[in-house]
Amino acid sequence: MLSEQKRGEVLRILKETYPDAKPALHFSSPFELLVATMLSAQCTDKQVNKCTDVLFPLYNTAEAFASLDFETLEPYIKSCGVYRNKGKNILAMSRILVERYNGEVPQTREQLTELPGVGRKTANVVLSNAFGVPAIAVDTHVFRVANRIGLTEAKDVEKTEQQLMAHIPESDWGAAHHWLIYHGRQVCAAQRPKCDTCPLKEICEYAVHR
Ligand code: SF4
Repeated sequence: MLSEQKRGEVLRILKETYPDAKPALHFSSPFELLVATMLSAQCTDKQVNKCTDVLFPLYNTAEAFASLDFETLEPYIKSCGVYRNKGKNILAMSRILVERYNGEVPQTREQLTELPGVGRKTANVVLSNAFGVPAIAVDTHVFRVANRIGLTEAKDVEKTEQQLMAHIPESDWGAAHHWLIYHGRQVCAAQRPKCDTCPLKEICEYAVHR
């Protein structure tokens, strides 16, 4: 793993490189973000946005979704992949929000991860982006990029999250998640990372030792 000084340098460069990093999913409420994030598993944010740009003007509250049946929802989410599971979880989640939370999205990780189809990553995305609660959601990009660079040295997403939280100031947790995603999408791709033009090439462990 990189030294504390080099980790600080990496974060400084990422912050400068992606000053406007923000969520790619379209949403205008915590509920919309929760649904969009649930749809984004194994699907691109762009594809999710195409679906929700049509879906949310029609239905965008827990009450509205709770009264839907799967057959009504299906055509709107069909292109998001694994849509049967996702759709059923979204409908079940909406009914629980109506029954237990007055239709509102709960604001703790424990309550969120008790909802059907909501794992730790989805809970962290919602906590951080909808409620401003410091959290680092570790998805496939964050996991790959953080471990390649040497910000973390972990074999699974949970340990990666713990190490990132330990090494990044809490005030930067939410932004760091977006910096790493942007970098993973634009430069540090899973196949053929663009090391030669990467602003981290002098520090990154993967580039230095390749
Ligand atoms: S130097 Fe290469 S491996 Fe390291 S962050 Fe940049 S693109 Fe990724």
